[in-house]
Amino acid sequence: MTPYDASSPQGQTATAGPLVDSFGRAVSYLRVSVTDRCDLRCVYCMSEHMSFLPKAQVLTLEELDRIASAFVALGVRKLRITGGEPLVRKGVLGLIEGLGRHLRSGALDEITLTTNGTRLAEFAGPLAEAGVRRINVSLDTLKPELFRALTRGGDLSKVLAGIDAAQAAGLRVKLNAVALAHDNAAELPDLIAWAHGRGLDVTLIETMPMGEVEADRTDQYLSLTALRAELESFWTLRDLPLSTGGPARYVQVAETGGRLGFITPLSHNFCEACNRVRLTCTGTLHTCLGREDAADLRAVIRSGASDEGLVQAIRAAVEAKPQGHDFHIDRASPPAVARHMSTTGG
Ligand code: SAM
Ligand code: SF4
Repeated sequence: MTPYDASSPQGQTATAGPLVDSFGRAVSYLRVSVTDRCDLRCVYCMSEHMSFLPKAQVLTLEELDRIASAFVALGVRKLRITGGEPLVRKGVLGLIEGLGRHLRSGALDEITLTTNGTRLAEFAGPLAEAGVRRINVSLDTLKPELFRALTRGGDLSKVLAGIDAAQAAGLRVKLNAVALAHDNAAELPDLIAWAHGRGLDVTLIETMPMGEVEADRTDQYLSLTALRAELESFWTLRDLPLSTGGPARYVQVAETGGRLGFITPLSHNFCEACNRVRLTCTGTLHTCLGREDAADLRAVIRSGASDEGLVQAIRAAVEAKPQGHDFHIDRASPPAVARHMSTTGG
């Protein structure tokens, strides 16, 4: 095979060589949404009556494996399985076990998962056996009634049992909490202290304007800059030099000893070091969370394309990765992107 030469026109289509966009950013991280469905209806993520995709539009497990594996062959080192709720997808464990071959071959560093935790009690052990070492669990409150309201019917005790099971199985768990001005802002210090007491890192996320939901996001939006200032009135936060190529900035809380991340897509731009792309469960590749750019890889593989054809389509999409996004929240404008987070894969 001809060695990849990024400066040659052939280099752009060769199967060898790293995936690099036109701004010189190497893509090493793929997030794969395996379903748009979910057993919860978080108010900031979904509308109350979501219509979900017909099965024929969703990639089969074999198609998901094929596309993810093509990315691994192109130098992606980290896969995150997400959704919707990934653990409601039938056969997801088999998919993860299959992708585990790339861990064993050394082609992949990590397979991780973002989950709402409701089914973790059942899945934690098998996930650990499949080679998963770390997972993110989304949890915005420790109050059962508020949890029920925010998720439109969810049962907090299931998530807590899931976190217990994950820790018992040896998985490292990070909590993701969306910061909501009125609903959980006052409770966040308690949530952080609880998590750190159990050895869990926490990442706080600003609400992002993705997809139509019933709630008014201007009302829900809480700036993490303001929240950080408040936390600093009673805690000592030390900046950590940790960079994941993602939007999170981390601090250590001296009093709890735990790590705290801030994901601030609205108050800060994090695009310069962006190393990630996202595959939806319908096979659409989004190279930027905050823009409408899209490449239809399902059409490519369902038209009978060879592996080389798939690689060409991936390279062309990555080549066109936008320089950055431009999120803003205001009352007058529609969501920055029309698709929901559950479709893109958060
Ligand atoms: N169902 C899984 C879960 O909740 O962890 C995985 C998918 S969910 C879309 C991934 C993450 O996106 C969750 O942490 C969730 O809180 C976050 N999320 C969803 N909608 C969001 C929004 N509009 N703004 C910010 N974060 C959002
Ligand atoms: Fe489901 Fe996750 Fe969206 Fe909540 S944030 S509705 S758990 S996909």
